[in-house]
Amino acid sequence: MKLYKPFLLFEEGQFKLNRALVVDDGGEIASVGAYEALVTKYPGAELMDWSDEIIVPGTVNAHNHSFQSLLRGLAADRPFLEWRDQALYKFSPYLKAKDVYTGAVFAFSEMMKCGATTVSDYFYVHNDGIESDEAVIQAAKDVGIRFVLARTMYDWTGAPAGYVESVNEAVKNVKYLAEKYEHDPMVSIVPAPHSLHAASVEMVKAGHRLAQELDCRFHIHVAEEPFEVDQVLRDHRMRPVELLDKIGVMADGRMTAIHCVWLDDHEKQLMAQNQASLVYCPSSNMFLADGITDIPALMNGGVTIGLGSDGACSNNRISVFEEMRMCAMLQKVSKLDSLAVNYHQAFAMGTKGGAEILQQPIGELKPGFRADFVALNQNDLSMQPISDTHEQVLPNIVYAMQPTAVDYVVVNGKCTVDHGNLTMVNEKQVIHKVQNLMNGIDKEASKS
Ligand SMILES: [Zn+2]
Repeated sequence: MKLYKPFLLFEEGQFKLNRALVVDDGGEIASVGAYEALVTKYPGAELMDWSDEIIVPGTVNAHNHSFQSLLRGLAADRPFLEWRDQALYKFSPYLKAKDVYTGAVFAFSEMMKCGATTVSDYFYVHNDGIESDEAVIQAAKDVGIRFVLARTMYDWTGAPAGYVESVNEAVKNVKYLAEKYEHDPMVSIVPAPHSLHAASVEMVKAGHRLAQELDCRFHIHVAEEPFEVDQVLRDHRMRPVELLDKIGVMADGRMTAIHCVWLDDHEKQLMAQNQASLVYCPSSNMFLADGITDIPALMNGGVTIGLGSDGACSNNRISVFEEMRMCAMLQKVSKLDSLAVNYHQAFAMGTKGGAEILQQPIGELKPGFRADFVALNQNDLSMQPISDTHEQVLPNIVYAMQPTAVDYVVVNGKCTVDHGNLTMVNEKQVIHKVQNLMNGIDKEASKS
């Protein structure tokens, strides 16, 4: 058992002094309370004296494509479809399971050093079938990050062959993984029909049925780009969210939509009415010039919102704290309203919003929840100033903080970042492997 004694603890939406957090050996938060009282109550607990640290819940990266970290810096500054062809489609056919593993270790390591304790990887590069999924899961375990595999179901044949499966194959594979990891506390599997442009209506329905069967949510990219809206309007004479509503996949509140940039008012209403949730990826939407999601309308309608970095080749940072900042800033300028999204709301989206969407007992520091948290050094320049009122702390975290402030990361009670260094993987080796891999793939891709 460990007793953490920080300078400040983020509890019930505010920062408190003289508090402590007790974590049991199973990685669960056993107690949160006044330091003196907890020391008396848990005399055997090992004291973690973190008197310069500010403990906040770990951030939740609710949408990422880990393999895309390998493609960062390639085909930058292109329109969406050109970027897709020149980065994703050009290189992903060469990614074997072992390469996907290398990319995932790279991505998870970087985001963890930036304070992410959970990631949902929306994974679709199945060049080695189910082995490719297993590689990503293994990478998460090796880095020590809590993991939700949004196991993609994809049947549009215009994409590289490794993305594509029949409805039956996709269902079989998602089910196999979900059953295999059912009792693993660090891994969850959710179905993820890719989008209305890359999954057939049958595939989307199958993903929804699986979510019912597994009693979870399903994830789907929705209206990221105008071309999807045009395509759905042409083929179905209605807009994307209207189609999702019509085919019956929204009614039971299981839909988690990614992006939702191009929704009209009726679609925003449908999202709220059907308790759909949204993963918002502001940096990626800016990078790819997608457009600006109407967050205030969705938020005020009651849609649960989490944040995602999206893949590292369309961001190109993979920090949830960064997305909090980008979310608030982009919405302010879009609405010409400094209150469009405030720092409390942005912080909540990156922590408990993502936790709710991924259905994990995390995102808040309270008894019974998993011990997933981050310690930020109050003496990092980017955290200062902090005066006795502590008024600046949360605004500084959202708007000013740099990753240099992230001293410790704890996931499931285990310290995965210690004094700013990864504890489970060797960072130099990760970089070395990534460089070798990319040199090899460059050669292969230039041959074809
Ligand atoms: Zn995505």
